[in-house]
Amino acid sequence: MQFIDLKIQQERIRHKIEMRLKTVLDHGQYIMGPEIIELEQQLCTFTGAKHCLTCSSGTDALIMVLMAWGIGQGDAVFMPPFSFFATAEAVAILGAVPIFVDIEPLTFNICPTSLTRAIEAVQTGDTKIYALPAPARQTRLKAKAIIPVDLFGQAANYEALLPIAKEHNLLVLEDAAQAFGGTRHGHKTCSLGCHAAATSFFPAKPLGCYGDGGAIFTDDANLKQVLSSIRVHGKGQDKYDNIRIGLNGRMDTMQAAILLEKLSIFTEELKARQQVSTWYTEYLCSLAEISLPHIETANVSAWAQYSILIGQGKRDAVAAYLKAANIPTNIYYPMPMHILQAFKHLEYMPEDMPISMQCSRSILALPFHPYMEEVQVCQVADCIKKALL
Ligand SMILES: *Cc1c(COP(=O)(O)O)cnc(C)c1O
Repeated sequence: MQFIDLKIQQERIRHKIEMRLKTVLDHGQYIMGPEIIELEQQLCTFTGAKHCLTCSSGTDALIMVLMAWGIGQGDAVFMPPFSFFATAEAVAILGAVPIFVDIEPLTFNICPTSLTRAIEAVQTGDTKIYALPAPARQTRLKAKAIIPVDLFGQAANYEALLPIAKEHNLLVLEDAAQAFGGTRHGHKTCSLGCHAAATSFFPAKPLGCYGDGGAIFTDDANLKQVLSSIRVHGKGQDKYDNIRIGLNGRMDTMQAAILLEKLSIFTEELKARQQVSTWYTEYLCSLAEISLPHIETANVSAWAQYSILIGQGKRDAVAAYLKAANIPTNIYYPMPMHILQAFKHLEYMPEDMPISMQCSRSILALPFHPYMEEVQVCQVADCIKKALL
């Protein structure tokens, strides 16, 4: 069994992808070819966002938005520590300080109550209100932005987060790298009222290309303008009239061509993902030792991962049992970001983010993809049952 099977999807649309790639080979516009414009239009239609800029990766999408907002030294940016490294890396590479805010135990998304405390702690320097990283204890940082992450495919609690941002005059960048295609109150992620959203088309994400790729979404025409400049070395009228520092952040035309074909079956695949998650729930719900994914009623998850919690120190034994039965699993994330070596200088203590720590010890992602069959889900569930006997 595969953890994520990308082959079945490819077999299904291989011919159409080859036709698309042939078109690119024929017209030869490998950089910013017509497929890029076509894809950006389709992504706007799909999400409901006013503007879309495709780019080189999800990480670069995050970095470019933060660059456009002028975020750098002396600035504080809030985010959950229970996420992929790129969320905080994008902040740190610009010289700003990631301020970690613990997650909610059911959704694994940033906790709005903790966020309010963390903002007040940064503004006052008072670590009794909330644990702060060393740079925020030593100097008064300027609270600038929040990056909520839609973890495993499920949108964060934007009804609670956006008013907090507004009250403190903070920009909100939705990290929807795992949640493209998910919805909250019927609205698609990347169009949930944030100032900007970033997503990733890394092959294993819900909508993946065959290499690196990403996209930025915003309703802000001015931001879109600045981002198009940053995406091409800070270009002005043309790319040799550089008016700001940017980067090479474009998506390849080839990747756009592939994504156009993948997007055409994506809605169907999202339904299939939903079905696979329903099977998992059916087959696993009788097991008292595990907690199944909790999807808020407002949300439809894009199901980037199906992650369960296995308590009492049994997680690793279950994973080993599954591995012996040829069933691959993964741990997202074995270490929350506040205790990663790369952020040692922030001087966080493990217990500063207790819920993230607890989740990292008990979480286990099961095999999941839209082409998984009921018998396979059943097989995984049976194996988990046996492992827990
Ligand atoms: C994958 C991911 C990213 C980075 O995307 P890339 O395209 O791999 O650069 C950022 N944030 C989260 C939450 C992710 O899962």
